[in-house]
Amino acid sequence: MRKMMNKKGFSLVELMIVVVIMGILIAVAIPLYGSITTNAKNKTCASNIDSIKNAAVAYYTEHGHAAEMSDLTFEGGTPKCPWGEGDGAEYDVTINTTTGFATVTCTATHEG
Ligand SMILES: [Zn+2]
Repeated sequence: MRKMMNKKGFSLVELMIVVVIMGILIAVAIPLYGSITTNAKNKTCASNIDSIKNAAVAYYTEHGHAAEMSDLTFEGGTPKCPWGEGDGAEYDVTINTTTGFATVTCTATHEG
């Protein structure tokens, strides 16, 4: 009996405890990952909107008329919302010619 207790390796109970702990960690990590990616996409979209607003106001200040999205140039290409299908969704830009403020709206449907 003493010889069997000194056997190397893991018992079934030890292995089951490891599997249960791994299951708990995975059950916590998967929903957390989903909320992190949702948050990142929403923040990217908000950042894109700010960039486009700034570019539209700068264009209006320089040219004296409202910009179309095609008039605006961005380092690294035109920003697209990560919630859009494929390459991402476009943004609509309107500029208030009285105040000079730009309104940028995202055409994609956001989740979360
Ligand atoms: Zn968006």
